Amino acid sequence: MTSQIPNVINGRLVVSESGRAAPVFNPATGEPSGIVGLSTAAEVAEAIAAAKAALPAWADEPPLMRARLMMNFKVLLDQNKEELARIVGAEHGKVLDDAMGEVLRGIENVEFACTVPELLKGEYSRNVGPHIDLYSQRQPVGVCAGITPFNFPAMVPMWMYPNAIACGNTFVHKPSERDPSASLFVYELFREAGFPDGVLNVVHGDKEAVDCLLTHPDVAAVSFVGSTSVAEYIYATGAAHGKRVQALGGAKNHMIVMPDADMDAAVDALMGAAYGSAGERCMAVSVAVPVGEETADALISRLAPRVEALKIGPYTDPSAEMGPLVTRDHYEKVKGYIDIGVEEGADLVVDGRGFTLQGYENGFFLGGTLFDRVTADMRIYTEEIFGPVLSTVRVADFDAVVDLIHGHEYANGVAIFTRDGDSAREFADRIEVGVVGVNVPIPVPVAFHSFGGWKRSLFGAHAIYGPDGVHFYTRLKTVTECWPTGIREGARFHFGGTGDH
Ligand code: NAD
Repeated sequence: MTSQIPNVINGRLVVSESGRAAPVFNPATGEPSGIVGLSTAAEVAEAIAAAKAALPAWADEPPLMRARLMMNFKVLLDQNKEELARIVGAEHGKVLDDAMGEVLRGIENVEFACTVPELLKGEYSRNVGPHIDLYSQRQPVGVCAGITPFNFPAMVPMWMYPNAIACGNTFVHKPSERDPSASLFVYELFREAGFPDGVLNVVHGDKEAVDCLLTHPDVAAVSFVGSTSVAEYIYATGAAHGKRVQALGGAKNHMIVMPDADMDAAVDALMGAAYGSAGERCMAVSVAVPVGEETADALISRLAPRVEALKIGPYTDPSAEMGPLVTRDHYEKVKGYIDIGVEEGADLVVDGRGFTLQGYENGFFLGGTLFDRVTADMRIYTEEIFGPVLSTVRVADFDAVVDLIHGHEYANGVAIFTRDGDSAREFADRIEVGVVGVNVPIPVPVAFHSFGGWKRSLFGAHAIYGPDGVHFYTRLKTVTECWPTGIREGARFHFGGTGDH
């Protein structure tokens, strides 16, 4: 019998006693591989209490000491990255080199957090008035919560807690209940690195657990990554309960292929960006936008055989390019969108619905799917599918590209393929999307920059990780000070006493 995946509260592994649990699957075989408890609000409150108790001592640690523990953690992650990638592959389904890519991009964020003494350096101005100096500092906000999606079970949490903890906060993480084991494995490394108990806590669960994090008076800040409907709820509820919130939501990312683009490079890019990780990436390209009929015909004729030839397999197959979808429900949802696209009148060029993999007949495998002549009013265009389904929308010219993208509610990422620097520059300037790639299909910024979409892809004022992450997890304080000599020389009591106005 499979044992239940435990929570981590104040350094102790504790199995939820809620009596509610969810199965975790191996998506390649369709077999259950574990059970995760769905914690009660009272259990989550215990984790928050542990984080609160650990906060004063942790916030008081010199940043260099916190950074040193982060360095230990980074070394342990490096030493255990193969095992972590394997755990990700086993529950998410993504192929191993993709899982390794996720782990490495996650570790980048830990590396960034190691530089926290530099990041927390404030600003200083001498003599802002006679004998008066001013300095600013960034202080931790308190207990922070992170609620994360299934699609990057190792990397997305690392967008959050390394920065938060390095900045002197304590943390409660609520991973996706669909692939919860990576968080537990990473926690073991975190503890081995030497962090005190209570600094990072992990609670598994669903809406009940999340609602406790959103409404509990001892939680100061909430980071969320997931679908837009939930992101909007998290933002509204967290803000109504006085918390600072950053909530990253869903996406529909376009890749523009200009007539002058290197077509081979564009096709290669689309294959990886649309079908890698079975399209279950918030930065996956789900819409190809060739400009002009000739470009569109050339693109489709080259793409179709490549999509048909996609090598699909379990994460254990080193030659596989794409794995299964995460759950049976998600498989049915994505397959349903292909039905919808056909009903809506789009051209189904490659149909992934009939795909089965010998020996893995119960796995959640869907073949790569390609639609042509999709229009902006179709649901397969307006809604996020989050599967290996690429829609092609043909447009006449550059202005039509901009109008198309500006008409969409999501604005997470976008890419343009062209050889023309002027068009690329104009595109990057004009386009109302948070993350832009020029001949780069998935332009997720490295960890020492920040990441976040616009419009309904991000709710809140801060992007995630990098410098924006440090700002999100800290509060600015400015101190203006004057010492006895200055006071003796004439304290000023009027407003604006730091100078003559
Ligand atoms: P999801 O919204 O279903 O779940 C995300 C988290 O919210 C999970 O921890 C889940 O337990 C919790 N949750 C789900 N329903 C809830 C509810 N009603 N109330 C409170 N909490 C709830 O998302 P998912 O399916 O796990 O992940 C895929 C989605 O995440 C896609 O929409 C994808 O675009 C998005 N995503 C966005 C980014 C980004 O950076 N913008 C990155 C990764 C994933």
